[in-house]
Amino acid sequence: MQIRLFIDRDLTVGATVPLTESQAHYLRNVLRAELGAELFVFNGKDGEFAAVLSSLNKKDGEIQICRLLREQPEKRDVRLYFSPLKRDCTEWVVEKATELGVTRIVPVITEYTSVKHVNTERLRLIAIEACEQCRRLDVPEISEPVALKELLIAQNDAEPLLIHLDETGRGQKASVVFSGIESAAFLVGPEGGFSETERALIAETPHTAGMDLGERILRAETAAVSALALFMCR
Ligand code: SAM
Repeated sequence: MQIRLFIDRDLTVGATVPLTESQAHYLRNVLRAELGAELFVFNGKDGEFAAVLSSLNKKDGEIQICRLLREQPEKRDVRLYFSPLKRDCTEWVVEKATELGVTRIVPVITEYTSVKHVNTERLRLIAIEACEQCRRLDVPEISEPVALKELLIAQNDAEPLLIHLDETGRGQKASVVFSGIESAAFLVGPEGGFSETERALIAETPHTAGMDLGERILRAETAAVSALALFMCR
């Protein structure tokens, strides 16, 4: 089995890098890794390296960085602005959006948002685990929640196109919305949808487009993941 670990430190060939307590626990008690085991490590900015487990105790350990395997790829700016959902659904969205390549996830508080508290630290850990699993080398940024109005005020032509997922049938097809763009920011409404006031504000905001995902009303998490999959797999 290939062991992949996110290491939150600078990585260079020849360096000896300490493991955190939870990494040592995971390697020792979950994977039962032996000294000398090969690991694949990344830190979100320096690429991917092969490393060897050089010491392992109950609460700590070290790895030796051996060689560079992959350079850090350029990343696209692909954002997901979504209204927080019940904890499991939010975590599912973060995991799947990470696998699909989103680079920034921003919880957005709207008029009908019912879940207002978001544990961004836990969401960051979920995103790291998803990166380890899917061999992704950068970790998406998880921002603190913002109010929809603030997000719309900050929107301008220099930002990625803000693509409002619109279940009313008034949006355009994905192929039309995606034409000629390399970056994108998807805005998904809460389970209760956007209010009429919010819809009017979105319509007045520069550099936005409405997108239709078909005739059925999707759950917010389905809409988020479907839009990202369509964009990333064009
Ligand atoms: N309140 C709405 C209703 O009951 O008619 C449903 C909201 S839906 C559960 C949550 C969000 O998912 C929507 O605000 C929208 O952003 C997105 N969404 C759901 N279905 C969609 C579709 N067919 N096309 C585009 N976006 C969709």
